[in-house]
Amino acid sequence: MTTETIDLRSDVKTLPTAEMLDAMRSAELGDSKAGEDPTVLRLEAMAAERLGTKSALLLISGTMANLAAIMALAEPGDGMVEDPEGHICYYEKSHARLSGVVPIPLPSRKGMMDPAELAALLDTRPDAKLLCLENTHNRSGGRVVPLPLWAELCRTARSRGLAVHVDGARIFNADVASGVHASAFAQHADSLTFCLSKSLGCPLGSVLCGSEAFVKKARSASRLLGGGMRQAGVIAAAGIVALESMVERLAEDHANARRLAEGLAGIPGLDVDMETVETNMVNATFAGSGRGLEEWIAAFAEGGVLVGAHPPDRLRFVTHRHHTQGTMDEALRRMRRAAG
Ligand SMILES: *Cc1c(COP(=O)(O)O)cnc(C)c1O
Repeated sequence: MTTETIDLRSDVKTLPTAEMLDAMRSAELGDSKAGEDPTVLRLEAMAAERLGTKSALLLISGTMANLAAIMALAEPGDGMVEDPEGHICYYEKSHARLSGVVPIPLPSRKGMMDPAELAALLDTRPDAKLLCLENTHNRSGGRVVPLPLWAELCRTARSRGLAVHVDGARIFNADVASGVHASAFAQHADSLTFCLSKSLGCPLGSVLCGSEAFVKKARSASRLLGGGMRQAGVIAAAGIVALESMVERLAEDHANARRLAEGLAGIPGLDVDMETVETNMVNATFAGSGRGLEEWIAAFAEGGVLVGAHPPDRLRFVTHRHHTQGTMDEALRRMRRAAG
């Protein structure tokens, strides 16, 4: 281990693999906006098959995919039930500005919405037309919403006429961690998007999956947002490599996160709720440590470890393909020293 800084801030920091870069260089390309890029068509077919949907659409980002889905599934003035701690509500302000959909907050508990609370809420909100769910749940520490709860939430919404959109940025982390295939989560919803970047290692790209009619509408919506792309096969080529070779290895990231979490729990001043450590993320709190968030981050950075945060009260650590078990042990050594 060198003294190189260890970066545990986010899986968005991952770089493309050599195989991805080779595939991007040699990809067969065409005008994707006209439906003529064979590599994009191949990726979209692969993604649809993997998620068990009829159709799929490559877009540049998860934010655009979520927004295009919302615009396809709801009209301006419709209500959208969402978790205030969900990525769409917390980070993506685009739907507020561009979709005209009215947010209806339904707080989750550590990422888990309650179907009874959802049903009670829907009794009072006939304007609700869309439910957004997230799996894994980012701000709760990458938790997996288990399939039985998932199915009940979707059933509760759909039996009342709502559409369900899934922000599945990290659905393959949920798949690998729980052993429940991503398609089993997708089948209860109308649409699902997943990120090719993040843990799958692509430089960019998200894929939005759903029925043919849904994807047609989402494609139109994405074009309003400037999402029509030309030789997008360069992005798709990396995505194909990701789906073929980067999914199963997520188990390593999860094992590393667990190792990291156990070590962090032993550092005086830090608390880790081990129940929430299911995938590639660890959240730690520091109440009563005498140090604030910025002080913890600065102390760790000084010691050679970059960490993220969910302000005001949580440090956030994320593992990915550039880390090994040795990286975890070295990071823990440095953080123990920095905390002492
Ligand atoms: C990263 C992420 C997104 C999409 O982010 P982009 O940066 O726009 O690709 C959406 N949802 C969740 C849960 C995420 O973590």
